[in-house]
Amino acid sequence: MTIALYPGSFDPLTNGHLDVATRAAKLFEKLVIGIYATPSKNLMFSTQERLELAREATVHLHNVEVMSFSGLTTDFARELGAKTMVRGMRTGSDFEREFDLAMMNKRLNPDLELVCLMASQEYQFLSSSILKEVARLGGKIDNLVPPNVLRALQKKLSLETFNSVK
Ligand code: ADP
Repeated sequence: MTIALYPGSFDPLTNGHLDVATRAAKLFEKLVIGIYATPSKNLMFSTQERLELAREATVHLHNVEVMSFSGLTTDFARELGAKTMVRGMRTGSDFEREFDLAMMNKRLNPDLELVCLMASQEYQFLSSSILKEVARLGGKIDNLVPPNVLRALQKKLSLETFNSVK
């Protein structure tokens, strides 16, 4: 079975991530979305929340499984028996970062190949961090995330507002 790993923070999963996962799921027999538990980023959602949001949003993709992991992505790929790692590539800065990561990952696990899917035009500008900022400022984000993620963001932000006025 050809297994591929699509790792990331997914804080939260956006339509850009979903687009990459949907396309990658057609290329491999099984695609594992790996939710990195401890990225060096300020997270809005817990590991469990990110996992559940990604699971709900991909329930229609029958060969996609969502799992969380910590430690090296290359070790997680080895544990899964994944020979390919999938990443999404937006314009500009993604290339530099992915290139450096790919070089390091090759040293860590020479058997793992990287497949980068170009972001679709409508999601080139979309990142989880920009999304969270726009959502916090009350901007319209409903075409940028799956419906369950939209609901979770609204709930999280209303809690933040509630806590800040307490
Ligand atoms: P990381 O924390 O590893 O950057 P992210 O959750 O931000 O993880 O993204 C996971 C992967 O999805 C990365 O390869 C990233 O480049 C890709 N990605 C993020 N947003 C988009 C998008 N809008 N379109 C295509 N790929 C994307």
